[in-house]
Amino acid sequence: MCGVFGAWAPGRDIARLAYFGLFALQHRGQESAGIAVWDRGRLTTLRDMGLVAQVFSEQKLRGLGGDVAIGHTRYSTTGSSQWSNAQPLVQHGRARTVAIAHNGNLTNAAELREELAARGIQLGSTSDTEVIAALLANEPAPLEQALAAVLPRLRGAFSVAGLADGTVFAFRDRQGFRPLCLGRLADGWVIASESCSLDLVGAEHDRELSPGEAILLDGAGCRSLAVLEPGRRAQCIFELVYLARPDSRLAGVEVYGARVRTGELLAAEAPAEADLVLPVPDSGTPAAIGFARASGIPFSEGLIKNRYVARTFIQPDQALREHGIRLKFNPLGEIAGRRVVVVDDSIVRGSTMRQIVSLLFEAGAAEVHVRVACPPIVSPCFYGVDMPDEDDLVAHGKAVEDVRGLVGATSLAYLSLAGLQRATAQPSSTFCRACLTGRYPTRVPAALDKLRFELAA
Ligand code: SF4
Repeated sequence: MCGVFGAWAPGRDIARLAYFGLFALQHRGQESAGIAVWDRGRLTTLRDMGLVAQVFSEQKLRGLGGDVAIGHTRYSTTGSSQWSNAQPLVQHGRARTVAIAHNGNLTNAAELREELAARGIQLGSTSDTEVIAALLANEPAPLEQALAAVLPRLRGAFSVAGLADGTVFAFRDRQGFRPLCLGRLADGWVIASESCSLDLVGAEHDRELSPGEAILLDGAGCRSLAVLEPGRRAQCIFELVYLARPDSRLAGVEVYGARVRTGELLAAEAPAEADLVLPVPDSGTPAAIGFARASGIPFSEGLIKNRYVARTFIQPDQALREHGIRLKFNPLGEIAGRRVVVVDDSIVRGSTMRQIVSLLFEAGAAEVHVRVACPPIVSPCFYGVDMPDEDDLVAHGKAVEDVRGLVGATSLAYLSLAGLQRATAQPSSTFCRACLTGRYPTRVPAALDKLRFELAA
């Protein structure tokens, strides 16, 4: 996943607006950050590896003037973690110069890349985002028509903010996998991956972009283009489970409330005899609150988290991940001698939970009952979330009892798919749930290699 932001706001300190918009989207990507601005016909981009606050200083922001901007926080899916893949990516094409910030994963990027190469257009990075930028930069028509020509050719998941010809544009794939919302400023417009970003910059939430919709933000205001036929809606259910910030609203649902409901339903579906309910902070906290409320078992913080360590899930290699977990949690003394229920939002590889269970037993817990607020993750994601290959998913091909044995818990239970769906308060037909069911809403490549480019770069 990644965070994207865009703003058309003449008279505002545009770089500062983008900076704070991205700051609220930091949870969606911690590897790199960047801002592109358009100032009197000139596009300037500043992007680098690191957190938003590490990449930008007062001095650097002062060098980014103009009325329009886009920005990005990156977490690597397609393309490796390196500077050349930091976004916004810029393409100087035959028709225009384009800057692109992308959240998602194109499933036909390899095909499109070959086609561009056949047209003599070579790309400098391994990211599928550059494919989108190159197609738009080389489409010989005004921007509106260029979008209409290029977007129908893209397959997969994409929520995009772009900048060209002094105009901010944004679009969302036909299924609406990844979120993208529009906000209104007194003097302009903002787009962002999540509503928490609109809140931080003082924008009023206008609406979510519809699946298949493109918008243009410029001196003519906000114009909506229906360039893609909407497909079967397939918003990512994992945004509600883990990815989105709890204070964001997705499709009219506040994420925090949905997560609390998962915990309440989990307590009803898989009760445990215990003395304390504790979360794996912070991602498991709302569900643990719900579990405690519904079960009547007292809530305890239990594990104190060092909040200055980056989210483990988001770091790209296993060595960093293992290291991160050890730095991250310290159990409270009140766990000693108690039977505890530990609640997390999900289990992906199982390595974090195994270490947490072991930490709790070392701290003297008498029993450790693991409760997971979503069903087992059994299949990889092709739509922009770093679910590992099947073999690395701890639940793939295993019974719940086998997973329990692997994590070393006294008992283990997952929320049912029906329970998760109920917690969202929306019909299952509007969601992608492929990582939980193995049933993909679009055609996906036969090889389960998640479309990572095996390029020499
Ligand atoms: Fe989201 Fe899972 Fe679908 Fe990927 S496969 S888009 S993580 S629900």
